[in-house]
Amino acid sequence: MKTMAKRVCIIGAGLSGLTTIKCCLDEGLEPTCFEMGDDMGGLWKYQENVEEGRGNVFYSLITNSSKEFMAYSDFPTPENFPNFLAHTHMFQYLQAYAKEFKLNERIHLKTKVEAVTKTADFQSSGQWNVTTVDENGIKNDMVFDAVMVCSGHNYNPNMPMDSFPGIENFKGKIIHSKDYKKPSAYAGKNVLVIGFGNSGGDIATEVSEHASQFPFLEVDDTFTVRDNCNCLYKNVFLPKIQPPTIAFINLVEANVSATSVCEMQSRWVTRIFKGLISLPDEAEMLKEISQEQEKNSHKFPNLKRHTIEIEDCPAYTDDLASQIGVRPCLLPLFLKDPGLALKIFFGPLTNYQYRLQGPGRWEGAAQAIRTQNHRVMVPFRGGSVTCSNTQGFGLVNLIVSLVLLAGCCLVVWFQTS
Ligand SMILES: Cc1cc2nc3c(=O)[nH]c(=O)nc-3n(C[C@H](O)[C@H](O)[C@H](O)COP(=O)(O)OP(=O)(O)OC[C@H]3O[C@@H](n4cnc5c(N)ncnc54)[C@H](O)[C@@H]3O)c2cc1C
Repeated sequence: MKTMAKRVCIIGAGLSGLTTIKCCLDEGLEPTCFEMGDDMGGLWKYQENVEEGRGNVFYSLITNSSKEFMAYSDFPTPENFPNFLAHTHMFQYLQAYAKEFKLNERIHLKTKVEAVTKTADFQSSGQWNVTTVDENGIKNDMVFDAVMVCSGHNYNPNMPMDSFPGIENFKGKIIHSKDYKKPSAYAGKNVLVIGFGNSGGDIATEVSEHASQFPFLEVDDTFTVRDNCNCLYKNVFLPKIQPPTIAFINLVEANVSATSVCEMQSRWVTRIFKGLISLPDEAEMLKEISQEQEKNSHKFPNLKRHTIEIEDCPAYTDDLASQIGVRPCLLPLFLKDPGLALKIFFGPLTNYQYRLQGPGRWEGAAQAIRTQNHRVMVPFRGGSVTCSNTQGFGLVNLIVSLVLLAGCCLVVWFQTS
């Protein structure tokens, strides 16, 4: 079914919510974003005391994806930023992104979305009733054509106490990494860190030196997430909700970078809301979901953390990019700009390549790709480096390109003859 959503309610103004606002604006939709915190940035806005229902970083946290992967596709990080960003850099970057694209004027801070329910005529209109409450407790009811849920999923700590028989006899303090802030609080104490994921590893190192819920939605059997079982089509849409006017952004564990996933999802969803891309019917969506579940069940253990894992992030973003029409076509690009095509083919899968063509094309994309090595090198050289050998496309590159092209043609010829 085709939908033509205009007024879009966005819940949350973190990394996902910000790019979702921008994608709506790019597509001519009218976004209104509600953020229950007193600032944008989501978990990257460091707080000593985190409100209930919000995720947050610990003080020494540094991203485990590099700055080039953490960057949105049309907004590279500053070259003088370190390659792996402290949470302060990440927050500055998000502030700059919001300022550049005038996103702040779309955000209502200190406003919590309390309820999202279908309107009485949902079957025909696809609209949603949204109830918000502001810091003074004043409630407001509004109707929106579509909803994009960007409320994060890193706030509901998983404490598997049942796995530790006798733990009730332990007299010390038990905390989740979500509530860990600084190592000084543990000076002189014997600390056991359980779990060696990203946070566990970081915390164990520095201490040694010194979910799933949809809280504001009317819950019925359409909203269920079981262990190791994602019920969302392309990790975004609930097949049973027709017309498809509610989308869950970044409700995934991405093993490359959260930015690439949430931005591509938002670009894809806004095109669907405009009626420019159609979803398959419910049966087809359910079939694909169960195929994904089958694949994941072999790849990941049956744990909550892996419920929403994306098995192959580049394949996932490429798939959505193809539907939007922004996946780069390397052969025509090679004929037009072989140096750039080679950089994409052999280089890292950074998000800029999804801005080279199609809807949302950005003039600066090619240059952002050509200069990504430069931005990576700057911090190594104390803040400055010349660009000459990273931007040009010399004779040597041309010869290498032609040899590679000839090689590819030979391979294709051998395979088809
Ligand atoms: C400790 C930690 C480190 C991480 N490091 C990396 C990394 O290095 N690289 C990477 O790619 N990813 C990393 N991640 C993954 C992380 O999920 C993403 O980086 C990203 O920040 C998530 O953004 P988000 O906008 O989806 O969610 P959040 O940042 O959690 O933002 C959600 C926002 O929604 C608001 N909200 C929630 N409910 C409501 C409501 N009912 N009404 C109004 N507002 C609401 C919240 O206040 C919050 O501001 C990390 C996650 C954690 C927890």
